[in-house]
Amino acid sequence: MDLGLDKDERAFAAELREFFTGEVPAEIRDRLARGEHATREDFVTSQRILNAHGLAVPHWPVEWGGKDWTPVQRHLWLTELTMAHVPPPLVFNTAMVGPVIATFGNQEQKERFLPATANLDIWWSQGFSEPNAGSDLASLKTTAVRDGDTFVVNGQKTWTTLGQYGDWIFCLVRTDPAAQQQRGISFLLVDMRSPGVTVRPIQLIDGGYEVNEVFFDDVQVPAENLVGELNAGWTYAKFLLGNERTSNAQIGLIKNRILRLKRLAGPLLDGEPLLRARLTTLEVQTAALEMSVLRLLAREATLPPGTPDPDSSVLKLRGSELQQQASELLVDVLGPAALAYRESGDVPDGFPPPPEGAVDAFPTYFNWRKASIYAGSNEVQRQIICKAILKF
Ligand SMILES: Cc1cc2nc3c(=O)[nH]c(=O)nc-3n(C[C@H](O)[C@H](O)[C@H](O)COP(=O)(O)OP(=O)(O)OC[C@H]3O[C@@H](n4cnc5c(N)ncnc54)[C@H](O)[C@@H]3O)c2cc1C
Repeated sequence: MDLGLDKDERAFAAELREFFTGEVPAEIRDRLARGEHATREDFVTSQRILNAHGLAVPHWPVEWGGKDWTPVQRHLWLTELTMAHVPPPLVFNTAMVGPVIATFGNQEQKERFLPATANLDIWWSQGFSEPNAGSDLASLKTTAVRDGDTFVVNGQKTWTTLGQYGDWIFCLVRTDPAAQQQRGISFLLVDMRSPGVTVRPIQLIDGGYEVNEVFFDDVQVPAENLVGELNAGWTYAKFLLGNERTSNAQIGLIKNRILRLKRLAGPLLDGEPLLRARLTTLEVQTAALEMSVLRLLAREATLPPGTPDPDSSVLKLRGSELQQQASELLVDVLGPAALAYRESGDVPDGFPPPPEGAVDAFPTYFNWRKASIYAGSNEVQRQIICKAILKF
């Protein structure tokens, strides 16, 4: 389907596709295509290849390895990368802390952290959410108390994605308990190998260990690790979350799942008009979502960087719904074969192997429940849409 890309944009996408499929090891991409999670080594290998070719952090300032690309080119980069089953450049590094340091950090912090962050020499974790501060993030309670040249950090973060691999964690901490909620928060970089940091895994409903709790007990953090101004962390957090404006739609992920659905459902479609209708509806709605992403990106190109756009909430909401519909449809198409879990790799003698695409169907179905929670739950997105777009 022609999504209104011009000739140059189509050529740009084709060039990227060739690079991703030619340069990133097929061994990694094949495993991801089968539905396996990327390992730490997969992320590192792939990000270093991309970085060596200037393709890890295209949205960063050019002096720190970015490309002067249009928003549409950045969208094509992410979509082609995902569709080629390349492990994505680590979002905490490239879309979160990197842009914050590049924009609000001092020169010393930029030189110290940005090259290592782009190359995944440092694995960053995101320390925002707490047990009683998720949607209502400004009520966070982890404290950082200044003591000479250090901050002493105490408290707990939770849902820290891939924190088990983390070298450093960027945290929102309360530095002025007396100030109004948003005003007393700072943005602090903490070395996770510091004494007093404990990481405890949380098992998710798919059986995997993707998220963690992180505890801070009297952790000494050099004051030079404060990013920007003291008590201005909320501003940087809003900037960071705004960077995720369109990528949360996860177009590439949904398209990959549709391709897999078509391969699997193809032989069944003739006898199953309802299945055919569900698959077609999903594909049409995904194309509509991609057009909306492109529309928003075209508008973004005309606005000053960092301008909030509440329409991105529509993309996040719709993207998570379509991801979940796609994962549900795959389970329905497979029927009992969807019960062939990843772990049950050994098929007993005399039993047929599960069909291609079956092994991760249920784990992915469970895992993608997260899409309507992280990066702002769907209820919260609906509130934003009501207030900022519909003006209720
Ligand atoms: C897989 C996964 C990975 C994550 N990774 C990270 C990470 O790396 N770092 C990090 O800091 N955080 C991470 N998070 C946390 C995520 O940002 C929070 O889960 C999210 O903000 C929701 O907060 P909560 O879990 O505390 O739920 P709550 O805020 O307690 O919400 C519970 C329910 O109430 C609803 N609700 C809340 N407020 C309202 C309201 N005002 N109106 C209507 N309904 C409302 C919510 O929609 C939800 O259904 C991750 C979460 C998940 C699921």
